[in-house]
Amino acid sequence: SIIVFGSINIDLVATAPRLPIAGETLLGDTFLKVPGGKGANQAVALAKLGVPTQMGGRVGGDSFGAELVQNLQDAGVQTDNIFVDETISSGVAIITVAHNGDNEIIVIPGANGKVNQEDVERLSRILPNAKTLLLQLEIPINTVVAAAQAARNANIIVILDPAPAQVDLPAELYPLVDIITPNEVEAGQLVGFPVDGEDAAAKAAGVLLQRGVKSAIVKLGAKGVVCATEKEVFFVPAFSVETVDTVAAGDAFNGGLAAALYTGLSLHQAVVWGAAAGALAATKLGAQTSLPDRFTFDTFLEE
Ligand code: ADP
Repeated sequence: SIIVFGSINIDLVATAPRLPIAGETLLGDTFLKVPGGKGANQAVALAKLGVPTQMGGRVGGDSFGAELVQNLQDAGVQTDNIFVDETISSGVAIITVAHNGDNEIIVIPGANGKVNQEDVERLSRILPNAKTLLLQLEIPINTVVAAAQAARNANIIVILDPAPAQVDLPAELYPLVDIITPNEVEAGQLVGFPVDGEDAAAKAAGVLLQRGVKSAIVKLGAKGVVCATEKEVFFVPAFSVETVDTVAAGDAFNGGLAAALYTGLSLHQAVVWGAAAGALAATKLGAQTSLPDRFTFDTFLEE
């Protein structure tokens, strides 16, 4: 199986004519509650592609927690290793979207911020039976490092999505990572120079290889993907699709990438799968709702 160890969130989305100013009570027009969190999104991406997937992490003891676990189960994700932390709220993002597209977001890490060594120990018990571990940066960084170390000890592949963007990752994390998958902004923050396009992405990937990762994949949105390993650097163009909303395109990419490697395909083919899943996610509104199922994915690849 593949294990995703990371964040599980609920997004509370309100739309209003405009953003409120400080102290103002504004009448909005719609409200939507949708599951999210990069970890949960990637787990759902994998499960929808038909890969046996387990999720590790924490939710709160509130009603959102139960809902979030149920949502993962409904998507086909195994949830035995999600710990319900009764001492804190679930991870929540409170999002306001104005008619002109402006938004305001407050993220409460809640239970995600409490994922710790105990959870890594639970994870360690299931790692030996897994093939791959997917990590992101929405849980405490020392826990991410410990999980990567546990995966290395169990000899399984570690794929790190360094999102949301961070300037400094602990130096000891890089050598524990088989594949790092930043987008342009995340790559830029990590390497300290702007990454905008293929050439800069190749340079950034080189820096990340020097820090110890085995492969660096830089996601360039509609411009494609640059992948670098010790032996080669290659470019995979983006699929041309009608873009509706790119939310979770990056999570879809990582799901497609990991699913292909799980199936035994080459790194090159895995990047193509990632790009296909990312492109499909960009054609639909929403996060988990936009992630392609296996049939849609196979049909798209055959065309
Ligand atoms: P993130 O969501 O992490 O910012 P990207 O926006 O780079 O990541 O999207 C991840 C991948 O999904 C891209 O590398 C690309 O393969 C695919 N993708 C994203 N947006 C589009 C798009 N508009 N058209 C085609 N493919 C896309």
